Amino acid sequence: MTDKKKLGRDTIAAHAGRDPQRFDGVVNTPVFRASTVLFPDLESYQRRDPDDYKVMRYGIYGTPTTFALEEAVAQLEGGYAAVALPSGLAAIVAALAAFARSGAHILISDSVYQPTRNFCDKRLRTLGVDIEYYDPSIGSAIGDLIRPETTAVFCEAPGSLTFEMQDIPAIAAAAHAKGVAVLADTTWATPYFFRSFEHGVDISIHAGTKYIAGHSDVMMGIVVTNEKYWLAVRRTVADYGYCVSPDDCYLALRGLRTIGVRMRQQQQSAIKIARWLQARPEVMRVLYPAFERDPGHAIWKRDFSGACSLFGVEMKPEYSPESTHAFVEALELFGIGASWGGYESLALPTTG
Ligand SMILES: *Cc1c(COP(=O)(O)O)cnc(C)c1O
Repeated sequence: MTDKKKLGRDTIAAHAGRDPQRFDGVVNTPVFRASTVLFPDLESYQRRDPDDYKVMRYGIYGTPTTFALEEAVAQLEGGYAAVALPSGLAAIVAALAAFARSGAHILISDSVYQPTRNFCDKRLRTLGVDIEYYDPSIGSAIGDLIRPETTAVFCEAPGSLTFEMQDIPAIAAAAHAKGVAVLADTTWATPYFFRSFEHGVDISIHAGTKYIAGHSDVMMGIVVTNEKYWLAVRRTVADYGYCVSPDDCYLALRGLRTIGVRMRQQQQSAIKIARWLQARPEVMRVLYPAFERDPGHAIWKRDFSGACSLFGVEMKPEYSPESTHAFVEALELFGIGASWGGYESLALPTTG
């Protein structure tokens, strides 16, 4: 038997979550569509284990197609188990909900993805959760913000639009010393470029819509956890009634098979374009942790094994928003639209 721990990440991406012999030799786990699942007798129906989320019980808990995607992502990232959700935002909502109760205190990075902030401000706060935003450069000083009622720290590195890196291992050490869980939105790095669980993350959240699916045709969220928090998160997902179409899981898993070649190529292409932009007289700086002069470069180099193709460009103040708009409109091969992580190129002004 192959020692699964020693497999490289490209090998894992190609093999994880597959069992061709179970499906008449078919290479890819087929699409299993199901609501009702029939049991051989009443006794086995009555004896089903509510905490066993990896066997077929009812369509809402997933089918072999869902399980194949979940297993593959969990294995690639080095987590204990994963659960698929209908969008990246739903994955964030479900993961946070596992730690939200009236009177709880949750620490959220100030450079977090805007809809995460919106959910915290508009939903969690009104339910009595105390939300506090912390400076992404905080590192181990996060410990000073932790109170007896703190249940979770939510990181995102690099931050959405502003690209600040965070010292996740230092944050995790301080949080764990006080028994607090560390959640991280790791969409940018993907399970391919960041082994979250080796850096202290307890719960890793992905917008699978981006690089995992990779082709701009699926909405998908995936939460990967360590063993400690698995049931707390998985039961929350079940309580909210979230489930994902097996067709979408099939597409996301098909995308995952080629994540290595896509990430390496997109990194290479992004570096070329970002270097060109950095040399332009209109550009103040490029926000991209893979670049040596980026303030987050040292942390990126220590913790991540690559950079995805999403970066920011800050124009010089004398360059007006109108000129930026004209520049974006004039691009012929870059589309204008939300999301990222597909194979096509996009550009958007983020302010003005
Ligand atoms: C896009 C994105 C999400 C949300 O993903 P959706 O599938 O669009 O809901 C979450 N986090 C980050 C960092 C993102 O860029």
